[in-house]
Amino acid sequence: MSDEIGKEIAEITSCSTSWDDWSKKIYSVDASSYQIEPMVISAPANEFEVQSISKYAAQRKLPLTCRGAGTGLLGQCLSNGIILDLVQNMNKIIEIGDRYVIVQPGITKHKLDKELEKRGKFIPPNPASSNYCTLGGMIANNSSGPYTLGYGSIMNYLIGVKTVYSGGEFGYAYDNGPYDSTVKKVIDIVSSNLDLIQRNYPKVSKNSCGYRLDSIIANDLIHPQRIFLASEGTLGIVTSAKLLILDVPEFRHLSLLSFPTVQAASASIPFILKYKPVATELLDRSTMGEILNVHDTRYDSCTLLVEFHGNGNSLLKQKIKEFEYGVSQFSRVIESTSDKTGIEKIWNERKNALNNVLKNTLGSRKPLGMIEDTVLDPALLLDFVNFLIDVYRKFNVSYAIYGHAGDGNLHTRPIIDTEQKTGIDTMEMITSDVFRFILGHGGSISGEHGDGLARVKHVFQMYGSEVYSLFVKTKQIFDKNNIMNPGKKVLFET
Ligand SMILES: Cc1cc2nc3c(=O)[nH]c(=O)nc-3n(C[C@H](O)[C@H](O)[C@H](O)COP(=O)(O)OP(=O)(O)OC[C@H]3O[C@@H](n4cnc5c(N)ncnc54)[C@H](O)[C@@H]3O)c2cc1C
Repeated sequence: MSDEIGKEIAEITSCSTSWDDWSKKIYSVDASSYQIEPMVISAPANEFEVQSISKYAAQRKLPLTCRGAGTGLLGQCLSNGIILDLVQNMNKIIEIGDRYVIVQPGITKHKLDKELEKRGKFIPPNPASSNYCTLGGMIANNSSGPYTLGYGSIMNYLIGVKTVYSGGEFGYAYDNGPYDSTVKKVIDIVSSNLDLIQRNYPKVSKNSCGYRLDSIIANDLIHPQRIFLASEGTLGIVTSAKLLILDVPEFRHLSLLSFPTVQAASASIPFILKYKPVATELLDRSTMGEILNVHDTRYDSCTLLVEFHGNGNSLLKQKIKEFEYGVSQFSRVIESTSDKTGIEKIWNERKNALNNVLKNTLGSRKPLGMIEDTVLDPALLLDFVNFLIDVYRKFNVSYAIYGHAGDGNLHTRPIIDTEQKTGIDTMEMITSDVFRFILGHGGSISGEHGDGLARVKHVFQMYGSEVYSLFVKTKQIFDKNNIMNPGKKVLFET
């Protein structure tokens, strides 16, 4: 089958298309623990080749799945159909203006950052995977990262998209601007269900679970492009994106705080948030890495990184002084620096947190990611952490905790023996306890990583039947034959 499909795609496009065993093995994995071998991998050069392949996939009723860098943690870019590798050829900056940039989806965040930095600009959402992850993947997962606390997620920066739909039709959607007739059908659904949507979405600072229907109409403004955020390539393929860019802040200051326990760090969050930092990140001892851990005995069991941005005037400096004085009732202030190179070095340690967690893998004992991305009101973070640690103790498992504490979005993984049936059962019981707590406290089961294969079955539990039926309608509007990255976001019979 691969051979036939590969040859047919090679005939209708001039892009590189492969279906040899080696390529299929490489594309069968991503940063999740899933493995699914695709039939064919194609690397289109432009939107017209994306269109040709989409038409072909629709005619043959074959699954069509986009792939950026493959750093998604829930199996979002894996499929047994055709993979569109957007990194190889669709990775350019199309235009940079004073307040916006237009890019192809396969450009990595890091490469874009470098170009914007030359002009004194930046796009604040910066996942820890930013050296590799693509703008297409960030849009499709509604990615965030540390600076979401001060600046919002990628949602706040997406101004418009050009898309290709199942069957090859071109689409477009611009903030408070024009949008195509397919997008209009979803806007009609949203506008006739505003109350239902308002009642059933979590009130949190970031959310990548389900389709973000709640973000499309806000304060009488229409943001049609947001239907593609967090949609995991299940509605359309983004072939270019227009994003808002900001001026790089003149002044940055990082306070590094050390706490005796994760609970003590969590208890300090409401106090810290009063000072309006742009990032507040937590690292427990297992995730602290070499610089923050091994070589420096001043560090206790848990570290918080708290960053402030501004123009560096005396008012801001005074605020930071007061903050560091006040926060010393909870912690020791280990570093207090405005040196950019030093700040970047410390952030690199934070970027390695997940790698440090994964080093806990020993044979079949693995840090598992199902509950790794919950989010709730940060005022409830201490209650959540107390609950979580009790659950881990109840099931007698080791664990790691780190992440975006200021947003109430902690990443956590229990270390479970995956070869034992009891291990898998334990993971399911932990998941059930934790999700019940999160949903009972108005949170979301995914703040920024998405649903993918792993959490798709929990989306119904998160939103209930009425909103879920809107998700199915939305999916059917774009893709009635369910060929766009099937098995992610919504499950339904065609
Ligand atoms: C070490 C590590 C740290 C991480 N830290 C963070 C973090 O701090 N914050 C955060 O938010 N996430 C984080 N992530 C998760 C992940 O890196 C992000 O979600 C990232 O944005 C995914 O980008 P990607 O290019 O790798 O996408 P992929 O994994 O390749 O794909 C993700 C999804 O996007 C879809 N997609 C890709 N391109 C397109 C397109 N053009 N059109 C339509 N759909 C498309 C794919 O089909 C898939 O469903 C982390 C992951 C790792 C491994």
